[in-house]
Amino acid sequence: MSRPAPAPAAAANDPLRDALRAHFGFDDFHKGQRAVIEDLLAGHPTVAVMPTGAGKSLCYQLPGLLLDGVTVVVSPLIALMKDQVDALRARGVAAEYINSSLDPEAQRAALDRLAGGATRLVYVAPERFRSGAFIRALQQVPLALFAVDEAHCISRWGHDFRPDYTRLGAVVERLRPPRLLACTATATPDVRDDMLRALRLDAAQVHVAGFLRDNLYLEARLCANERDREKRLVHFLTRGAGQSGAVIVYASTRKRVERYAGVAWKALGDGQVVAYHGGMDDTERSAAQEAFMSGRARVAVATNAFGMGVDRADVRAVVHVDLPRTLEGYYQEVGRAGRDREPARCLLLYNPIDTRVHHFLIDQSHPDPKALQAAWHALRTRGPATPRQLAEAVDALDGANQAETVLRHLAKVDAAQFDGGGAFRAHPDAPPDVADLGLDLAGIARHRDHEHDKLRQMKRFVHEAGCRHAYVLRYFGEQVDAECPGCDRCDPDDDNAAPGVVFAPPDEGEALLIRKALAGVARAEGRYGLRKVAAMLAGSRAATLRGTGLDALSTFGLLKDVGLDCTVELLQLLIDQDLARMSGGDYPLLQITEAGWEVMQGRTCPGFKPPPHLMPGSTAARRVERMRKGAAAEVDVDPEDAPLVDALRAWRADQARERGVPAYVVFSDRTLFAVVDRRPTDERGFLAVHGLGPSKWETFGPDLLQVVAPFAAG
Ligand code: ADP
Ligand code: MG
Repeated sequence: MSRPAPAPAAAANDPLRDALRAHFGFDDFHKGQRAVIEDLLAGHPTVAVMPTGAGKSLCYQLPGLLLDGVTVVVSPLIALMKDQVDALRARGVAAEYINSSLDPEAQRAALDRLAGGATRLVYVAPERFRSGAFIRALQQVPLALFAVDEAHCISRWGHDFRPDYTRLGAVVERLRPPRLLACTATATPDVRDDMLRALRLDAAQVHVAGFLRDNLYLEARLCANERDREKRLVHFLTRGAGQSGAVIVYASTRKRVERYAGVAWKALGDGQVVAYHGGMDDTERSAAQEAFMSGRARVAVATNAFGMGVDRADVRAVVHVDLPRTLEGYYQEVGRAGRDREPARCLLLYNPIDTRVHHFLIDQSHPDPKALQAAWHALRTRGPATPRQLAEAVDALDGANQAETVLRHLAKVDAAQFDGGGAFRAHPDAPPDVADLGLDLAGIARHRDHEHDKLRQMKRFVHEAGCRHAYVLRYFGEQVDAECPGCDRCDPDDDNAAPGVVFAPPDEGEALLIRKALAGVARAEGRYGLRKVAAMLAGSRAATLRGTGLDALSTFGLLKDVGLDCTVELLQLLIDQDLARMSGGDYPLLQITEAGWEVMQGRTCPGFKPPPHLMPGSTAARRVERMRKGAAAEVDVDPEDAPLVDALRAWRADQARERGVPAYVVFSDRTLFAVVDRRPTDERGFLAVHGLGPSKWETFGPDLLQVVAPFAAG
């Protein structure tokens, strides 16, 4: 796909770009900037959704310099305000900031300069608008533009919710600025809707741009169990794309970090691996950070807290050994790979069982009214309690974490007060019924459902049949207008190129497969783990089932044609789609859910088509099975082929170096061996090789034929 190059004549007459060069010394606009600025200059209310680092500040700074009047920039990041203002002043721009880091006198002086008409841009913290005097001062100066940076802070859906931001809608109404801009890097529809409504931006032009990270290869692998996941990680770090260069491995908890740091350490030896999590003390943590930053350690295994302080631009791979809770989180974390714009690999190792913990934690942090009432009653009648004590006293509470959440909710409406020593006590005048405490019970439930929903969208990313990059862009609301730059679904050489789940109603055969699997889950009555149920459905004669009675059930062997591995995958899929679930505890048991019953009995239709390789007796299933077995084995090269294999490998390495991409981007080993088999001598022969298509012909077809020519069968 090629785009027409801009006509050179147009470059001569581009006043906006001239202004960019004159004021900022930049050559050209980043993706999206021009459109935002043009809309603003034309007087349209505008929203700019671009990822961090895309250059959102310029979208208000340049108009601020071109328009008559003052540009007000609201930003929650006090530390960054000073940096931006210093940078603008260094360019000779009359810029100010007004926030709590200035003493009252300095604030007054800044306001005076503003009133005197000397200021072009003024940065303010949202707290400023608590003051009516400040708003009146702004009413006295001619405004050019009102820009709200980090505008997602206005949404309660976001994790950065800032109560002071909610005032901005009313401020906009009072100031009536001639132009209004909201900037954010968070573009999910929920947050965006909130933002548009709250800032009176319903009629705004929304620009979403720049989310595609075209140097990242995205892949997600389903793992059968924890052992499988560990093996895949080790393979990746020792023989796969993660065998050289800096790698960050993300795990969800402290314990998981320690476990996987151990796995990596065993595989790579001492000195190459550091662990990083919130439970370490400051010296340990900075030592780990320093080792990774300086390059002494190649692999960092970390919770997502890692990354804020680490600014290593040459991270070559990010691996997730746990499912992130949201796609925003995932994308932010993989975004720490390849910031030098060189190719990097992003591998998500996923076991559907993980999501149980996530769903559990979400429920825990959103207590239902029953739990709230029971906790409130206990606190009132039993006297002061710590979260732990409260959790012990109240059955309806799910552990100390939930007790703490409950107490925080109660404290927010002043029903509970901190009592010292980690304990809380009930306010003596507060009413006995939680419903009368002014808690937003419906809001809590809404927020809970919302978080479950976001998790489901994350899960969907793993299973989706289509392009991973396109899925992310769609999620963020950006138009997909480029070819996939690299993902396991689009790469014809990747095992995962076999299509995944399609989220559309299944046909009869597919629905039947899902119902059969559910029937097996139901028959096992929630008394067995996933592996045993799968073995039963697949009709396994292995020892695992002996003595369980599972081999006597009517559902024994119902999915014989599907095979054991694929049945495991199918059951994992049922869990992911909430048709089945795993119980908690040390020996999680597979159970059918209410939604699962509905589907099993044919009352509702599942909303997805299982991937074709799970269909009974499919050749794809056999292929997947073979590939899995073969994956571990080293490739044997026939001695007769060895010279050509070597020649192709050397040529591929040259190509990769020349174009600054990893070798697999040129073509994979699988394609390499297909070339060896076929030894193409012309374009037709070339195109007949699995993994080589017209675009590869364009880039290196004739070149490759030359490499093969001396070896072509005469
Ligand atoms: P964001 O707010 O979107 O995270 P910033 O506005 O902080 O990003 O900009 C990130 C960096 O990019 C800054 O150093 C900025 O000077 C630079 N930048 C912005 N626009 C351009 C451009 N058109 N050309 C070159 N650099 C740019
Ligand atoms: Mg910014």
